[in-house]
This record gives sequence, structure tokens and C-alpha cells, in this order.
Amino acid sequence: MSDCIFCKIIRKEIPKELIYESENVVVFEDIHPAADIHILIVPKKHIEGIKDLTDSDGLLLVEVYKTANKLVADNNLENDLYRVMANGGKAQHVPHLHFHLLGGQWKRTV
Ligand code: AMP
Ligand code: ZN
Repeated sequence: MSDCIFCKIIRKEIPKELIYESENVVVFEDIHPAADIHILIVPKKHIEGIKDLTDSDGLLLVEVYKTANKLVADNNLENDLYRVMANGGKAQHVPHLHFHLLGGQWKRTV
């Protein structure tokens, strides 16, 4: 249990339109899009950041990238520009591991 904003979204304490949900991940649009398509893939497990990943999270990471591939296909990005990335350290603002899918025209860096 954590009080972080993404955990509140996952527990539906903060309303958020989800693009996709599975047992292990939720997907929703970034509130401040930095590109034409800016979607967040968020593991439901509260892992603070990349530095906190362990061997037992291997399958979770596979699911994150499979979900990204599905979103790439759903948004017809296969032959466009896209990037899947996670921030860490001072570049990370929400302390709950998440992955940005950015596609199309960039507006700014994330
Ligand atoms: P990071 O800097 O990698 O931690 O990215 C956090 C991202 O979460 C930023 O791009 C924010 O715009 C986004 N964000 C923060 N709060 C919300 C929210 N309530 N709903 C959707 N996206 C959010
Ligand atoms: Zn959390």
C-alpha cells in the first residue's frame, strides 16, 4: 500500500480513464503530453523506480513491453517514431515505476 498518485489511480481512488488494464498493469494518457501520443504504462505493484527492480520482476517487465507493443500497433506507430522509456533519479517526478510511450511529433523532452 502506498499513498502515491499512481497507486491512488490504480486503486480507483482518483478517477482516470484507462486505455488498458490487466492484472499487473494499467495504461492511461499522460496529463501533460510531451508528444502527439504520450501514454503511461504503470505496473500495479508499487515499485519506486528502476533501482528497486529485482529478479522476481522479470515477467512484469516482459508484460510492460508486450503492452507497449500492443499500444504501438493500436496507434499505428510501427513505422513512425516511437520510444518507450523510464526516467530515474532526478529525472523521475512520480515515485512509482512507470514507462512512457511517446510517439509521433515530439513537443518537448520528458
Ligand atoms: P516522470 O517524470 O518520468 O516521473 O513522469 C511522470 C509523468 O506523470 C509526467 O509526464 C506527468 O505529466 C505524468 N502525470 C503526473 N500525474 C498524472 C496524472 N494524474 N495523470 C496522468 N499523468 C500524470
Ligand atoms: Zn505507487
